[in-house]
Amino acid sequence: MEVSRYQQMGVSPAVERFCARILEGLQPRFAAIDDMAEQNQLKVLQAMQKNRVSAACFAGTTGYGHDDIGRDTLEKVYADCFHTAAALVRPHITCGTHALSVALSANLLPGDELLSPVGKPYDTLEEVIGIRESACSLKEYGVTYRQVELLPNGGFDYEAIRAAVTPKTRLATIQRSKGYQMRPSFSVAQIGELIAFLKGLKPDLLVMVDNCYGEFVEAAEPSDVGADMVVGSLIKNPGGGLAPIGGYICGTKSCIDRCAYRLSAPGIGQDVGASLSVMTSLYQGFFMAPVVVAAALKGAVFAAAAYEALGFAVLPGGEESRHDIIQSIELGSKEAMIAFCKGIQAAAPVDSYVTPVPYPIPGYNDEVVMAAGAFVQGSSIELSADGPLRPPYAVYFQGGLTWPHAKFGVTLTVQQMVSAGLARLPE
Ligand SMILES: *Cc1c(COP(=O)(O)O)cnc(C)c1O
Repeated sequence: MEVSRYQQMGVSPAVERFCARILEGLQPRFAAIDDMAEQNQLKVLQAMQKNRVSAACFAGTTGYGHDDIGRDTLEKVYADCFHTAAALVRPHITCGTHALSVALSANLLPGDELLSPVGKPYDTLEEVIGIRESACSLKEYGVTYRQVELLPNGGFDYEAIRAAVTPKTRLATIQRSKGYQMRPSFSVAQIGELIAFLKGLKPDLLVMVDNCYGEFVEAAEPSDVGADMVVGSLIKNPGGGLAPIGGYICGTKSCIDRCAYRLSAPGIGQDVGASLSVMTSLYQGFFMAPVVVAAALKGAVFAAAAYEALGFAVLPGGEESRHDIIQSIELGSKEAMIAFCKGIQAAAPVDSYVTPVPYPIPGYNDEVVMAAGAFVQGSSIELSADGPLRPPYAVYFQGGLTWPHAKFGVTLTVQQMVSAGLARLPE
């Protein structure tokens, strides 16, 4: 009997059959994901053509980086794509947390209050804001913070938000993706409703959206529905897996000017910042991003459907609409989280031979287990899984530069779970 390539790579015939059966039911969803990729691909292309991207944009600069046409043009491409007046897109923004920290600290002054109307923000922002004591937090600089929890059903608590907005409230931060929480991610339409409500209460309130993992999942972005700033990481969706570093902030001219002054120095702003040799990757990655996001979404939908069939709680559900590329799966135990991560790691093109073990990382409160065999260190648009080791022992699965790779990764997680006796294939 012929042995399939999956079987040659460690997948049992029973797991292979199970996965094939799951996939049969997903074809209409995959077609919708492909349609979205097509729309977003054209959006990116249009922005590149309009701004006359040329070979000169890839040359790069050194030193101060004055008149860096590659950097300046890329910022125009991002601004056009996100329909904003301005954008800051830089390799000097070291990660998503850095981009968010720049956006917040540039636009909040001593005496101002920051509001999160959507519950707890992403773990690393706790130290940026000063929810957890940290040197150089916003709190240390006299910026206060207030948080309104989501309703038990995951919706916005409009009455509590109304009560929380005071004359001091300067900026509201909305996190689109759930991050390490078991709550739904918000659609762009939902974010738009919340922004309209906030601006109805206080027209001069600034709204920043943490857009990490959300880019190109829908046809619109939060900046299309009133956000003053949208912020994200280039080693997630918009870098398309090719950007080796970077972050972006797109928004109004006045917000972005302040961000540029905060990132470089007052008076200098956006005019300096040599792009060295990374520009080609930033452009090419942005060009690829819509189809890479589609591959990641297919992987997420496949994982949801497979783990639902295995009897685990998944968020979003296998049939639910998607607003980011993250799939969380409540695995219920430390052992199962580790087994899942072993599957993802074993599927990787890089470091497939290493075994994930839990460890503490800066910025996060609990030990974290991670699987990532990425070309770009820590890149989570590449196939990866991680999660803090705390109840309900949910693993967060994301990425996949190609759909076949995402499929293989999910298949190997099922294999690991089944082999370790942590999951049973349905009859
Ligand atoms: C990843 C992420 C961040 C932080 O990004 P880093 O690049 O890890 O610093 C912030 N918010 C959300 C929702 C994220 O997913």
